[in-house]
Amino acid sequence: MRIDVVSIFPEYLSALDLSLIGKARQQGLLELTVTDLREFTTDRHRTVDDTPYGGGAGMVMKPEPWAAALGAVLGGGPAAGPGAAGERPVLVVPSPAGEVFTQATARDLALRKHLVFACGRYEGIDERVVDWSREHFEVRPMSLGDYVLNGGEVAVLAMVEAIGRLVPGVVGNPDSLVEESHADGLLEYPVYTKPALWRDRPVPEVLLSGHHGRIARWRRDRQLQRTAARRPDLVGSLDPTGLDRADRAVLAEAGWVVSGGRVVRAGDGAAGEPVA
Ligand code: SAM
Repeated sequence: MRIDVVSIFPEYLSALDLSLIGKARQQGLLELTVTDLREFTTDRHRTVDDTPYGGGAGMVMKPEPWAAALGAVLGGGPAAGPGAAGERPVLVVPSPAGEVFTQATARDLALRKHLVFACGRYEGIDERVVDWSREHFEVRPMSLGDYVLNGGEVAVLAMVEAIGRLVPGVVGNPDSLVEESHADGLLEYPVYTKPALWRDRPVPEVLLSGHHGRIARWRRDRQLQRTAARRPDLVGSLDPTGLDRADRAVLAEAGWVVSGGRVVRAGDGAAGEPVA
């Protein structure tokens, strides 16, 4: 996979030299290039921002350096298109006004050949850059969550890590990707390691039993309980056909039932359906 990041703070992205993503780059699994937006300015102050039309606080990133930088990333100057035949690169524009980045988004983007990340600063990038980019890229304005950061770099670090670890070969044991939070719409179960007794706190006995079926059931129950307690929005999105009798019993204890083909809060006029 090829990844390009454009930023006025290229050094911010140096964390991508470390750990599994750094190793994946060394191994050639990820071809990641960070480009300094200021290289595409034409004035002696290397200006990338200007005052907003219509007034208001803050500064807005100018369109020209962005068009030049993105054109260079595409490999043919500002007016160039995707170049090589085939799928268009995806341009991810971090923004608190974008669609929320989720594990499903990460899975989707991990299948793409070329991702380009445009790190905004100040009040963001002139909107015409986003419009113009649609001629050359599949554009995805993307939010890390409902809060405001100073710039896109932190969001890009998070997104590249979440996407990169799904690229085959980046994480040594692919099984660890299957069992973790959000892989199946649920949060992960709690995990423990040695010693079996720590500060008067024993590891749950079932985990020492060696009984794979009981361990799997215990973990599934904890997933359902934890998700119901911490992320009820995820419970409401569960597919009831994937819930067995034991799952439904755990959810019922947490105040959820299957009704009308959906998982809903008990008491919202919902009558629980018998398990098929
Ligand atoms: N004025 C913008 C607004 O209210 O939507 C916020 C600009 S913010 C101070 C500067 C940059 O930080 C944004 O252009 C974006 O690149 C990045 N950013 C801030 N919050 C973000 C979030 N939640 N997710 C992704 N990127 C974010």
